[in-house]
Amino acid sequence: MGFVRWICTVIIFHFFAATPISSDPSFSSNELSSLPTKFLNFAKKPEVFDWMVAIRRKIHENPELGYEEFQTSELIRAELDKLDISYKYPVAVTGVIGYIGTGRPPFVALRADMDALAMQEMVEWEHKSKVPGKMHACGHDAHVSMLLGAAKILKEHEKEIQGTVVLVFQPAEEGGGGAKKILASKALENVSAIFGLHGGTNIPIGEVASRSGPILAGSGFFEAVISGKGGHAAIPQHSIDPILAASNVIVSLQHLVSREADPLDSQVITGQAAVQRCNATVNFFDDEKPFFPVTINNANLHEHFQRVAGDMLGIKKVKEMQPLMGAEDFSFYQEVLPGYFFFVGMKNDSLERVEPSHSPYFKVNEDVLPYGAALHASLATSYLLKIQQDVEVVEGKYHDEL
Ligand SMILES: [Zn+2]
Ligand SMILES: [Zn+2]
Repeated sequence: MGFVRWICTVIIFHFFAATPISSDPSFSSNELSSLPTKFLNFAKKPEVFDWMVAIRRKIHENPELGYEEFQTSELIRAELDKLDISYKYPVAVTGVIGYIGTGRPPFVALRADMDALAMQEMVEWEHKSKVPGKMHACGHDAHVSMLLGAAKILKEHEKEIQGTVVLVFQPAEEGGGGAKKILASKALENVSAIFGLHGGTNIPIGEVASRSGPILAGSGFFEAVISGKGGHAAIPQHSIDPILAASNVIVSLQHLVSREADPLDSQVITGQAAVQRCNATVNFFDDEKPFFPVTINNANLHEHFQRVAGDMLGIKKVKEMQPLMGAEDFSFYQEVLPGYFFFVGMKNDSLERVEPSHSPYFKVNEDVLPYGAALHASLATSYLLKIQQDVEVVEGKYHDEL
């Protein structure tokens, strides 16, 4: 037994000794820390920047709602084809999963959401939404463009990737829980970590913000139908007034926050009342609009993010933020694997005011695109290098013990 074990150990030792942690054996920590700046400079090259802007504008003109992102998905696949990147399609109806690197483990995922909102764009500009009543008012058009930008950077530096980067173009973030469907497809089964980003309208361009632990709220939808009985206003005793009943319900729901919940727990109830007749039925939309869990960032990935973003932007531009009461279906990924969600600044004080997302006046500051693309690419590449180094360290310990 002892001898067989000794042989195996020697074989393992030689295997790792013969496998450098990078295709470039002289890959130093200096080179590792200069990777993010190298990627950002690449993403800022006029030909790369203009290409990302053109993609974002094309998607902006043709917004599609959750699980209807067929043209967006087609555009993504066409770009991946041009970049010679293999992918799986369809995943979760319209989703596309791309692969860059060795095709072997470890795997790290980067996610972009693709869906638009059911609202009329009020911004008058050359690339305004061409679809009445639909608009990219949350910047998911920019998210897709940034992930394609990352794909371009990663493909260009494919030899430096020590494993596989999985690109997740996900449908239906806005209430549809597309992340849940992506997970159900088992496309991310062997993935070690996942990163996701969102444009931040209150964060200056060139800055990023996030935190370890809870960063976004959980959220759920329900519809209550209250039915009454009509009658003459002068003889109210012969009718049942659904408006009064609905008003009481709305006020009582607010009491859940002000009188029932712990004041130190953040909660928000937002109401849109559907009032009909005075029986009450409540529908929780479990299938169409699943309950979103709280978005909770992994502590180790927070350290990784701070290091990578700090190398790219300078540590002063990497901000800690307070949790927000918005929700994200990125939280579904974090329930099954380590995940990290962060905000990339879009605010430019010299430009006109940036409206918040979900406003019909929302505008993306396109200068954000290289930052998002380079952050995605750097986080994934350096994460894979780090995992390889950790394996090397563990193996090293093992040999020392012999
Ligand atoms: Zn949104
Ligand atoms: Zn969004």
